[in-house]
Amino acid sequence: MMGRLGNFENIKNRQTVHTSNSYSVLDIEIDTDLHEACSSGLCDATEREIPLYKYSEIPDFLQGNPYVVSGYRVSLPFNLCLKSIFKWNNETVNVWSHLGGFFIFLYLLLHDNIIYIPRFHGSYTDHVMVSLGLICYQFCMLCSTGFHMFACHSEKASKRWLAVDLAGISIGVIGCYLPAVHYAFYCLSIWRDIYLITITILTVTTMVIQLHPRYFSHQWSKWRIGIYMGLAGYGIIPTIHWIWLNGASAEIVQLFVPKVTTIYILGMIALILYLSKFPERFYPGVFDFVGSSHQLWHIIVVCAFVFWHYAGQEILRYRVAHPCV
Ligand SMILES: [Zn+2]
Repeated sequence: MMGRLGNFENIKNRQTVHTSNSYSVLDIEIDTDLHEACSSGLCDATEREIPLYKYSEIPDFLQGNPYVVSGYRVSLPFNLCLKSIFKWNNETVNVWSHLGGFFIFLYLLLHDNIIYIPRFHGSYTDHVMVSLGLICYQFCMLCSTGFHMFACHSEKASKRWLAVDLAGISIGVIGCYLPAVHYAFYCLSIWRDIYLITITILTVTTMVIQLHPRYFSHQWSKWRIGIYMGLAGYGIIPTIHWIWLNGASAEIVQLFVPKVTTIYILGMIALILYLSKFPERFYPGVFDFVGSSHQLWHIIVVCAFVFWHYAGQEILRYRVAHPCV
């Protein structure tokens, strides 16, 4: 313990160092030799033991939620970032929830293309639209998994992977829009194309804004959240327009509006937890490893995507049963 206390400044100021056997991928220094990575001052870790630190001990770039008090990994080399997913730390649930999400959507991609869509004699376009949505979800899940795995590697890596994580959110949101807009406006192809183009432009814009040098600064944190709320909230416009075009009493509107409402409620619950840092705010240290707001946010996001995927299947079934007149 004394050794660790004496090491505080060392831990806070560690830098990723180029070694003779390392190369860099997305700002992660990948050492072919773990021994060399650790001897270069990168870590105190051995392959068997990955040390975990308290909030007060970690460098500034890893700080953000003071109510998660312990369980932090600091400046791990690439190999140990990978290995750390098998050791309980405060990112374990974050990593596994979205890695698990990736496999759920991979399974659904195979299942729907091989079994579900052929059962309804779906068209080539049905295969493309359902697959696009699921591939976007998978991309989002992998970006998030990467961020939570590698952010502890170095300050540079944490910034780069935060950008990857946020780009993944944009892609995840467009994955929600694509099949929904395609099937909701199936018989109104002009509006379908207008909304699909608009949503694509908005999503690309959120990714271009990331290139602004101050985008990841603390001062911009509220703007960042606002941008993603705007991107998700934009869906209210085509929804209201669609209800108006079909009439509130139309069967398809009655079928689909409760699902739109549910997905927005899920999104709002997730966002409130995320912003309020509930429940750890009221019990600092209690939810360090399991149950913190970010972990709940992750799980709600997976549930929301799964729910939305099945909502899409229902509207697909409706479209097959009710061709355009
Ligand atoms: Zn996350």
